Amino acid sequence: MVSCTISGVESAANLERVKGSSKLPQGALTQRQMFGEIGVVKRFIPKGRHGRKIHRPMKPRYITVHSTQNYNGDAWDHARALERGKLRAPKRRGGNRIGYLTWHFTVQEDVVMQHLPTNEQGEHADFDGTGNNYSIGIEMCEHNGNSRSQTLKRTAKLCASLMRQYNLPLRSVVPHYHWARKGMSPEHKNCPHYLMTNGRPGRKWNDFLQVVQREYDRIYVPAQIASMSNGFTMTEAKAPGYKGL
Ligand SMILES: [Zn+2]
Repeated sequence: MVSCTISGVESAANLERVKGSSKLPQGALTQRQMFGEIGVVKRFIPKGRHGRKIHRPMKPRYITVHSTQNYNGDAWDHARALERGKLRAPKRRGGNRIGYLTWHFTVQEDVVMQHLPTNEQGEHADFDGTGNNYSIGIEMCEHNGNSRSQTLKRTAKLCASLMRQYNLPLRSVVPHYHWARKGMSPEHKNCPHYLMTNGRPGRKWNDFLQVVQREYDRIYVPAQIASMSNGFTMTEAKAPGYKGL
């Protein structure tokens, strides 16, 4: 079918305790508010079954973006298939480790479905490589009638929100292409294909990253909190129109 309980909200909770969400600068929002704006529906693969039979904890260091190349299935269809363990892959040494394909989020024009907690590994990128061991996997839908631009916008917001949540830089947002699949030909998959240029990251991917950065810049971070989490003092919070504390 396919080719190719958010945790750690404590920082946002602290932020709101310190600041109070009613006092945000105009146009800014908290990470939690942005996550809310995206419209995430949790439809987790049942714990202990199918692709979650083995508990595989993860500390996210990257965000990997894919597209489904499935012109029939929408996000709800993918959620159903994952929940029921329908997305099988041959388990083999040096290849798929669990016999299933799994990832964290599926995005379409009007909704995001979440299939795995972000502190558990998926099986979507590069077998036993860094992409699976340390990245949050996002699939963008391509079914007929789905707006690509709205899907990209929602995906960019999701990436920005996750970057803020896990304190990740923009360079941590990578296409599936980024991860080498050992033993596969080609080693680097042309995915998400419509954001690649001649099968690799180029202008279209950079344009997408710019949208992610713009969304990230909308997330309000008081200088106090930013200096605590980054280990240096920011003179200005990341929010449009914000003039400092
Ligand atoms: Zn992919």
